[in-house]
Amino acid sequence: MRILTLGDELLRQKAQPVKEIGSEYFKVVEELVKTLYVGDGIGLAGPQIGILDRIFVVHVEGDILRVFINPSIIETSQETMKFEEGCLSIPGIYTDVVRPRSVKIQAWNEKGRPFTLEASGMLARVILHEYDHLEGILFIDRISEQKRKRILARIEKAAAKEQV
Ligand code: ZN
Repeated sequence: MRILTLGDELLRQKAQPVKEIGSEYFKVVEELVKTLYVGDGIGLAGPQIGILDRIFVVHVEGDILRVFINPSIIETSQETMKFEEGCLSIPGIYTDVVRPRSVKIQAWNEKGRPFTLEASGMLARVILHEYDHLEGILFIDRISEQKRKRILARIEKAAAKEQV
């Protein structure tokens, strides 16, 4: 499955709730997980492969693979943390992003079972990054205007080079 990159309109749309998490839906979960591993990423959301469903998968080092379907963020910490982020949809770009240090989230897993999770550190960061994808938000939206302009210019330059 192809991972959509910056400039694709689907990345900017709001994903819709999954109506039924049955055996049919498991194919979508599988596709997302497969693409996550092929892309060597730690998180991937439906819209990134053109599926506008509220689903993302996360697998950070030292943790299990986690599937979040129809997630809602219950709470985030006041305390924030700055950390370098990248995104499979914005290849080659890494920059510091400020986010809450921890998050409490409710979602359904691939078996259709609801769960609540309290995460902090890297897991929280990836969850918040992937959740943003469901809202059509990218990590470059969460940095300063100045920094974003620099990054976009860099991407444009690289794209122009590719076309030659
Ligand atoms: Zn991303």
